Amino acid sequence: MAAGIIDGKAIAQQVRSEVAEEVAAWVGAGHDRPGLATVLVGDDPASAVYINGKQKASAEVGIEGFDHRLPVDTSHDEVERLLEDLNDDPRVSGILLQLPTPPQVDGGALTEIISPAKDVDGLTPISAGLLAKGRPGLRPCTPAGVMELLRRHDVALEGAEAVVVGRSDLVGKPVATLLLAANATVTTCHSRTRDLAEVCRRADVLIAAVGRPHLVQGDWVKEGAAVIDVGINRTDAGLTGDVDFAAAATRARLITPVPGGVGPMTIAMLLRNTLQAARSQAGEPAWS
Ligand code: NAD
Repeated sequence: MAAGIIDGKAIAQQVRSEVAEEVAAWVGAGHDRPGLATVLVGDDPASAVYINGKQKASAEVGIEGFDHRLPVDTSHDEVERLLEDLNDDPRVSGILLQLPTPPQVDGGALTEIISPAKDVDGLTPISAGLLAKGRPGLRPCTPAGVMELLRRHDVALEGAEAVVVGRSDLVGKPVATLLLAANATVTTCHSRTRDLAEVCRRADVLIAAVGRPHLVQGDWVKEGAAVIDVGINRTDAGLTGDVDFAAAATRARLITPVPGGVGPMTIAMLLRNTLQAARSQAGEPAWS
């Protein structure tokens, strides 16, 4: 079987167009433009590229950007004060603190002071708690992007065996929780899992979020499975995922490439979260 390729770039573009239309309707109805504040401490080139991408994408869909770039020697307390100001600023619907931060700035602790209503990265304990309890809230962007890819390809999740490899707070855990909420039977694997290959072979839906090139081999994939590769690994051969794509594609029904699969979805879902945050803050229905 030759797998269908899930075109994350095209789906991300669709989501971005939808957000642009919804922002236009929102502003047309007399609401303030949603605002996204990004905070970057230091001059790490990779982080700067991410922030540029997020600000550019915001502008394209009509979200107002507040682009805060602080010198590398900014103190923890200064960043904290900025985040508090942004929490109080009614023009700002969503706040994103770019990680990692320089050593004197405790990025993990600062993420937790972001107002849950503005937590468009979905990483605060309140957002994680709402997700765990199945309550509406802002979901982490990459996991939300994984679910969107599955949804737009009509992948049946109810009663399906879903296996998530990786249990990070950023990807693995929230993906597993979202799959559970969609009534899949979910197994979460990690570095101590015994016989990972055997567990993966059960999966109707296999999600790899590890950060090890080609960890998931072709014969770990069940015939007809949907395979979502979150991994981004920089190797001598270029960017690769956690799945041996060529081998897995001979068995899967659907599979994401790397690059061009999950990656583009993260910013698209950030834009959607920012609009949802603006709606929610205005007391309007925000969650579908
Ligand atoms: P992480 O390092 O925080 O977590 C990795 C997880 O993999 C851990 O839970 C660990 O237990 C598990 N693991 C490690 N070795 C394993 C092994 N041999 N077998 C089974 N499990 C193993 O990483 P993360 O932040 O969750 O990111 C995972 C990957 O996804 C990375 O490649 C990252 O670059 C990528 N990523 C992509 C996006 C995107 O597409 N936008 C966003 C976030 C992360």
